[in-house]
Amino acid sequence: MHDAIIKAITAITGPEHVLTSAEDRWCYAFDATELAALPDLVVFPGSAEEVSRILLLANEHRFPVTPRGAGTGRSGGSVPIEGGVVLVLTRLNRILEINAKDLVAVVEPGVILGKLKAAVEAQGLYYPPDPASAEFCTIGGNVAECAGGPVAVQYGVTRDYVLGLEVVLPTGEIMETGTRTMKGVVGYDLTRLFLGSEGTLGVITRIILRLVAKPKARRTLAAAFGTLKAAAATVSRILASGLAPTALEFMDHVTLGCVREMLPFAVDPAAAALLLMAVDGHPQDVSERAGAMAAFCAEQGAAVVQGQTLEEAERLWAARKVISPALKRVKPHKVSEDVVVPLGAIPELIAGLDELSRAKGLIIPCYGHAGDGNLHVNVLYDRSLADEAAAVEPTVEEIFVLVRHLQGTLSGEHGIGLTKAPYLGMELSPAAIALQKRLKQAFDPHNIMNPGKIFPPPPKARAGEQEGI
Ligand SMILES: Cc1cc2nc3c(=O)[nH]c(=O)nc-3n(C[C@H](O)[C@H](O)[C@H](O)COP(=O)(O)OP(=O)(O)OC[C@H]3O[C@@H](n4cnc5c(N)ncnc54)[C@H](O)[C@@H]3O)c2cc1C
Repeated sequence: MHDAIIKAITAITGPEHVLTSAEDRWCYAFDATELAALPDLVVFPGSAEEVSRILLLANEHRFPVTPRGAGTGRSGGSVPIEGGVVLVLTRLNRILEINAKDLVAVVEPGVILGKLKAAVEAQGLYYPPDPASAEFCTIGGNVAECAGGPVAVQYGVTRDYVLGLEVVLPTGEIMETGTRTMKGVVGYDLTRLFLGSEGTLGVITRIILRLVAKPKARRTLAAAFGTLKAAAATVSRILASGLAPTALEFMDHVTLGCVREMLPFAVDPAAAALLLMAVDGHPQDVSERAGAMAAFCAEQGAAVVQGQTLEEAERLWAARKVISPALKRVKPHKVSEDVVVPLGAIPELIAGLDELSRAKGLIIPCYGHAGDGNLHVNVLYDRSLADEAAAVEPTVEEIFVLVRHLQGTLSGEHGIGLTKAPYLGMELSPAAIALQKRLKQAFDPHNIMNPGKIFPPPPKARAGEQEGI
């Protein structure tokens, strides 16, 4: 990047908010995938106006800008694959308002989700979306990826709580979308267009969120099944029975093995799968629903444990939250996919993955938000074993073929980013891709905003270089 541009950006934010050394820039080269690409400059803007001035420069001099929250994304969204500027939004980290009368919160994008949830709950209110990364991801990243989590079964995902946004368009204009009201249908729904747009349409600088009342009680239960098939089939039966779980999570025996010692109770070593459930609401209703759910799972042949104390429930959910990193106990490397299938197809997905695992000789553990049909499928491998490493990409492709055959979707919450860009055509028709590209061009005529994501097959990321850090 030209020195004059670096000087101009430094003049906008002040030198203390710009990183230029290679060591510092490497820290912003990657996200939670195993991909990395070195940016030319890392910039921490302090306001929407500063973002706007940087984007105006980017348009004039045609350099790429990649927005970044906490870098916990799982599809390479904040990896600056074409270099240029990484725009880190963590200085915009104020909770501007929590309004109990309007049931809204107004926040800047760099607020850590866990802090927002705690601040809202301190006022007797609740912001439900609860990705397992809540303690370290940003609300801006959540909006850009449309993050979900276990309680989506009852409450929905980030999309269902964003009423309005302030965004800086790639051409520099600062624009507001949506409303502060619970309803609103004036013009096209641009707010929703930004939800899950993966930093390709603009930079989100303020968010108006809908809040709900904090549930008065919550119960957690776990049901261990002797076969994967029985656990998988129970998921849609529970949902169809009207028992209305708040969360309904699945763990297969490999994932169970990785977090077993964190659980607050013993699980039969022969158990093939665990369903982890939560119910919340009014205390009496919660107690009745939890009891009915326990009885229902027992009828399906499961050994059921109900969390008796808050501490037990917390330990259970803490174990669920660390599954992803804990899988590295099995193999040092993994590719994580977050496919979704129709609820009735979960048993077929799990049986298909089992077959694929045996055919490819790879361990493919599966866990996640079964209540939405959204399962995290992980292909584990050791990069130093050539056979295993070579089998990974073809296996991922076959997983997607299976998912599409079951009328599912390639991503429920992690987005397309870099990792799934080559597979976009497996789900979207040429006409749909062409229309989306025209939309992108209308927002970003010079393609400066997070280029290389979603659409084209990505250039090879410099994954190997990351290991040398
Ligand atoms: C251990 C672990 C568990 C996880 N569990 C879940 C889970 O349960 N559910 C789930 O949905 N996800 C989960 N994730 C994925 C990840 O945490 C989410 O995608 C999260 O929303 C990313 O937030 P971030 O602040 O880290 O964003 P980043 O990774 O920094 O960025 C993600 C994308 O958003 C864009 N972006 C970021 N900020 C802005 C902004 N202000 N304006 C415009 N674009 C922006 C970036 O360009 C990028 O494309 C998990 C990740 C990890 C590592």
